[in-house]
Amino acid sequence: MVQEIVSGTAWRWPDSAFWRDIELQTPPCFHPWPNRADSLLWLSSLNGEFSVASAYSSLKPSRRKVPWSDIIWGPSHIPRFSFIVWLTLKERLTTKMYLRSRGLGIDNRCVLCSDGEEDDEHLFFKCPFSQRIWIILLDRCGVARNLVVWKDVVGWMSRRV
Ligand SMILES: [Zn+2]
Repeated sequence: MVQEIVSGTAWRWPDSAFWRDIELQTPPCFHPWPNRADSLLWLSSLNGEFSVASAYSSLKPSRRKVPWSDIIWGPSHIPRFSFIVWLTLKERLTTKMYLRSRGLGIDNRCVLCSDGEEDDEHLFFKCPFSQRIWIILLDRCGVARNLVVWKDVVGWMSRRV
């Protein structure tokens, strides 16, 4: 099979669009070795040998690290708080508005102030109780910044980590 595309130390590509693409992708320094036996190489491993582990890692989707990963996960972080922030960033925090969007006929007023609609932005930033906490916290940290939505907070913290 390989011998069909080899002529001595040169390639003999069949005339088709598929092989033209292969020819274009083949580095000029890559020549056939006519005196060497053909062998199978598993391209998903470093040594060219097949292993179940290399097959598994080639099949599983690559995990892209989200920019906020280092902000919420780490050995010094409090797991319960990390989990709450993770749920919020994944838009899965079970606020009253979230539960209403799932069909629960419940009162959607904020449990803290009984004024605004309880969604994640209100709970963490727009609620007067949360705003007071932010003001104190940012003041103690010496940060002169108004944080009003999760995207701003995550973007700002991602640049600082
Ligand atoms: Zn509130």
